[in-house]
Amino acid sequence: MNGPAHQQIDEMEQALRADGMRITRQRSAILRVLAESDDHPAADELHRRTREMDPTVSLATVYRTLSALEAHGVIHRLTFEGGGARFETADSPHHDHIIDMDTGAVIEFRSEKIERLQAEIAAELGYDVVHHKLELYCRKR
Ligand SMILES: [Zn+2]
Repeated sequence: MNGPAHQQIDEMEQALRADGMRITRQRSAILRVLAESDDHPAADELHRRTREMDPTVSLATVYRTLSALEAHGVIHRLTFEGGGARFETADSPHHDHIIDMDTGAVIEFRSEKIERLQAEIAAELGYDVVHHKLELYCRKR
């Protein structure tokens, strides 16, 4: 495990404890595996990876832990068209997603042009953007 990922996990676990969540060994393993995954895994894939570290973790535990982590705001549940839920930790800077429709791969991007344009459009209509999600469904050229 590299340094930043380790620190990131420690910070998330501290925040969870401060928020009243008990960090069991299994929950810690699930959180660690998700923090080290940059491909937005689904619960079953996360289960497969977590079992490599801790074979006692069941799929039901993964589902329950993901729900609890989501409720505490440390992970995001991503629901893309044509697929089940996928997950990422909530501490990375804002970004949007490209979904490869053929492979299901999820690619992160951030465009200052798009961020600016959205703010301009909202302002013209008398709004400030509080939050947005942008998903581009794509095929490789
Ligand atoms: Zn992402």
